[in-house]
Amino acid sequence: MSLQAIRGFKDILPAEAPLWRRVEETARGILRSFGYEELRIPVLERTELFARGIGEDTDIVEKEMYTFPDRKGQNLTLRPEATAGIVRSVIEHGLHGSGQALKVYFIGPMFRYERPQKGRQRQFHQLDVEALGDPSAHMDAEIITLLGHFLKTLGLGGVTMNVNSLGCPVCRPTYKEELLRYLEARRDGFCSDCQRRMVNNPLRVLDCKVPECSALAEGAPKIGGRLCPDCRTHFDLVQADLAAAGVDYMVNPKLVRGLDYYSRTTFEALTGDLGAQNAVAGGGRYDGLAQIVGGPSIPATGWALGLERLVMLLAAKGEHAAERPDLFVAALGGAAPVVFGLIQDLRRAGLWVETDWAGGSLKSQLRRADRLGARRVLVLGPDELARSAGMLKDMDTKEQTDVALDRAVDLLFSHIKGDGR
Ligand SMILES: [Zn+2]
Ligand SMILES: [Zn+2]
Repeated sequence: MSLQAIRGFKDILPAEAPLWRRVEETARGILRSFGYEELRIPVLERTELFARGIGEDTDIVEKEMYTFPDRKGQNLTLRPEATAGIVRSVIEHGLHGSGQALKVYFIGPMFRYERPQKGRQRQFHQLDVEALGDPSAHMDAEIITLLGHFLKTLGLGGVTMNVNSLGCPVCRPTYKEELLRYLEARRDGFCSDCQRRMVNNPLRVLDCKVPECSALAEGAPKIGGRLCPDCRTHFDLVQADLAAAGVDYMVNPKLVRGLDYYSRTTFEALTGDLGAQNAVAGGGRYDGLAQIVGGPSIPATGWALGLERLVMLLAAKGEHAAERPDLFVAALGGAAPVVFGLIQDLRRAGLWVETDWAGGSLKSQLRRADRLGARRVLVLGPDELARSAGMLKDMDTKEQTDVALDRAVDLLFSHIKGDGR
């Protein structure tokens, strides 16, 4: 039997890659204009980093990590997300110490042992954006604005930001007690995970995806009315900024993150494409994380976005990256060395040139050029070579022109680059 890829590990085939590339290139361009730099983190980290940085009692750490001992018995884990690794790297290299916000992003594969399904793989890809060292509401609003702008630029429709505030170590404990009283009174209605987590971390129960749990959580007290004055001011400013930047947002009091190191702003991007509202990205402020992984206190905010799902949504909308060769060279009667040389010269000049060394009839080569979506075809048969001029055909307008071979590189380059296509 021939070998196959591991379940949940998927090849991204050449036909799919242009859409991925478009998403990634769009992200890099927009991140640049918002002042973000790339920080590339390793695939493997010590298991302890994720156990502390994601939380021991989360589904990710309890059930979904690819963890194994290396040859010396050290416990290692394939990164299931990027934030913990980024924070580890920032602390390790002292990148946060400048007094300026450190704004970084990362694009790459993550690994979780989940049940594979449509749009969800065991090796999946995330775009991760983090701003460290700035506690201000402006930074939260900016990172949300950036996310919305990115999704809209890609062509995603009906993008709405759900936002909420989770309070802070001043106001949250009182709220948690009140929440716990509500949950304990309905204890038997919750799933076993929720029952177990309830006491240590009642907010996690509001996060649970089990339908019975989320139905019960519906009636639970919300933190919104219980924010301390500082948190209230912070959250009001986030909203005022979003409104000023023209970001579509709504306050969703049910939007929570269960871990204690999250504070204040939390958010999720929803798209109305494909009917129901779908969450495509989420994030929030995590001022307490750096200390949990052994560093100093670093206020931080960020978001993560699953690329599989985004690419799937864009593909379902019929979005394709329009990547078309500049030129197809149809060499008739076998490619003479002079044609071979010309093709390499054109490529070295920066043009995307396709050809078919196997040759074939003009008809079959034109068919191939068409399939590739080539914008132009240069026909070079024995007749053309004899008169030292190729016949250039524009595949969109069907216009034909002659191109003198001794000046072909200059002529084609200015012709092709000159019309901006
Ligand atoms: Zn507070
Ligand atoms: Zn539950």
